Amino acid sequence: MSSVPANWTRWTICTLSVALAACVPAQRAGIPVRWIESPNYDDRKPQFVIIHHTSDDTVEQALGTLTDRARAVSAHYLIARDGTVTQLVRERDRAWHAGASKWGALTDMNSASLGIELDNNGREPFPDVQISALIDLLTDIQERLHVPGTNVLGHADVAPRRKVDPSVYFPWKTLAAHGFGRWCDSPLPSAPASFDVALGLQTLGYDVSDVEAAIMAFKRHFLADDSSPVIDETGRAVLQCLIRQASR
Ligand SMILES: [Zn+2]
Repeated sequence: MSSVPANWTRWTICTLSVALAACVPAQRAGIPVRWIESPNYDDRKPQFVIIHHTSDDTVEQALGTLTDRARAVSAHYLIARDGTVTQLVRERDRAWHAGASKWGALTDMNSASLGIELDNNGREPFPDVQISALIDLLTDIQERLHVPGTNVLGHADVAPRRKVDPSVYFPWKTLAAHGFGRWCDSPLPSAPASFDVALGLQTLGYDVSDVEAAIMAFKRHFLADDSSPVIDETGRAVLQCLIRQASR
């Protein structure tokens, strides 16, 4: 059975009005519109970087997964244990790395971020050469795209109910020393008894629909501890410090 493509009708309308405006396929809007191109635009730019570990034992395994159409996952970059950087998706394109995710008011981190996968099985430290390559890549991204340094997050930060990467081995403190991500070092002033941990986590950006999951993600990132969802005095003090940092 043949039918007139929806776009054809729109193209016909455009052809009839071509003296008034140039025409383009109607996928630019869900309704018929006229097209007059402005020269004043450029590519959309991501404003976050999300760090992952692959959970694989080799970079070849990770490359297999990240390029398998059936697996439907990808990232912009993959950094091997030896520091070799592979790009898999153009930066202007939306890689499928964060999945269902939330940070602050943003609910589609794939649209707002670049994804960087680190070749790491989640049970091992990250080699210095790999972290050095990551810092070089983040520096390059920041210089070109102006991603705020504080907008470098872990996958588990934006998907605390589903994800645990990067693991407690990831050196967030080292990254912060280079201007990527936030960090507060103990000892710190204690938080008052009235300090509301859930509100504090939400203020930082965490999705607190599951507070225990958010606490686990926070502790993994800022205290290298994923033992339990109980936050002690040190954790409360670090959270208070980070909120003060973020509000400056
Ligand atoms: Zn991940």
